[in-house]
Amino acid sequence: MPWCPQCRTEYRPGFTHCADCGVPLVDELPPEAPSEELPPDDSLRRPRDPVHLLHCPTTLDADATLALLRSFGIPCFSQPDMGAEKIYTGFCLTGEHIYVEASQAEQAREIVRGFRRGRGRVDPADAAALMEQAGEPAGDSPPSNPFATARTVVSVLFALAVVVWFFRWFFG
Ligand SMILES: [Zn+2]
Repeated sequence: MPWCPQCRTEYRPGFTHCADCGVPLVDELPPEAPSEELPPDDSLRRPRDPVHLLHCPTTLDADATLALLRSFGIPCFSQPDMGAEKIYTGFCLTGEHIYVEASQAEQAREIVRGFRRGRGRVDPADAAALMEQAGEPAGDSPPSNPFATARTVVSVLFALAVVVWFFRWFFG
């Protein structure tokens, strides 16, 4: 099977060039060289062997935790509890789960524990500073963003509407 030596995509026989990279395909993929494959900021790649680290009650908490871990160079990602409302509002009412690489789980746990012990909960100011540090626009943190606050209100109203509708359907 032909492979792209650059993005490591497998192609069906008959293809000669990678559609994405434009480089000639090779018959056999060279062994992976991790130091060359990784993006410049190692913490931004996805964990290879993800394990569950902890559950954050809010999206803000989850974002701050991700930024905190990435500032220590630990690859991580979050997954919403249910997810549907996050797609529509960018916010998750049920919280989010944080995942890290298995080999770094213990280190990540220490970082989060130390951060919470020393500073209490992740507060919005910390979150903004951490986001900035992680290279994300600080203006996106909910407390300073009226649009984000409006989104939260809309999600709460939406959730209430669903509950009311359910009760009327169930008991009505
Ligand atoms: Zn390619």
